[in-house]
Amino acid sequence: MAVFFDTHAHLDYPEFAPDFAQIIERAQAAGSSKLISIGTDLESSVRAIKLTEQHDCIYAAVGWHPSNAAEAPEDIRPALRELAQHPKVVAIGETGLDYYRLPSSQGQGTTADDGRYKQKQTVIFQQQLEVAAETGLNCVIHQRGDCFADTLRMMQPFVGRVRGVFHCFASDAPAMRRVLALGSLVSFTGIVTFKNGQNVRDTVAATPLGNFMLETDCPYLAPIPYRGKRGEPAYVKEIADTVAQVKGCSLEELSRATCQAAHDFFPKLRA
Ligand SMILES: [Zn+2]
Repeated sequence: MAVFFDTHAHLDYPEFAPDFAQIIERAQAAGSSKLISIGTDLESSVRAIKLTEQHDCIYAAVGWHPSNAAEAPEDIRPALRELAQHPKVVAIGETGLDYYRLPSSQGQGTTADDGRYKQKQTVIFQQQLEVAAETGLNCVIHQRGDCFADTLRMMQPFVGRVRGVFHCFASDAPAMRRVLALGSLVSFTGIVTFKNGQNVRDTVAATPLGNFMLETDCPYLAPIPYRGKRGEPAYVKEIADTVAQVKGCSLEELSRATCQAAHDFFPKLRA
């Protein structure tokens, strides 16, 4: 059976607590052999690390999500540096920028509040890039809304030291090429299976094997035929089936290319 890694899952979320053991069993049975649980703040990152200690197949990324920026401490670097030392912490993140949900668009503030919010996102993103560079880890990048140019601009000074995976990539081929030009890569979710996901399938078709990884982003974005339900790591299989079709390659070929990309990107992922 071709194996695939779920490189972006939020396994510490309460949605998974009731049947966690079965979720891991289903993942292994479906060939999702390694799972990376992505932290979204310090507590979530600590919970992700705890999961790595309970399950061989689970690894963690530690970071602070831009959507939680308002609650972030002034300086998250000391805590992240410490967490990053754990042998199964393979990346920094989830970090990046999110201009999609701003205070004013939520009816919770003015454009001045938006400015302060973006500024705080920028500060904690910068801090996470610095910790990544110091610890020799790469970054899991979230970018949503009109922030692609700002994201690239912030990563530019780290080129050659820190790579990013632009997760849940849903932009077009020219945008994908700008990511690859930074030495970074992209990863694709269940959106590739959606009826209205043709634009993402076009980007998949244009992305060379070896330059992308697969992820579920569970509990979100469950692929067809589970769309709208709780996602879980076993569903990488459905994503892989569609991506292999789009690339015109075998599942074995896709397995080799995506797992190799993940091993290169997450240096502490064990072979
Ligand atoms: Zn995520």
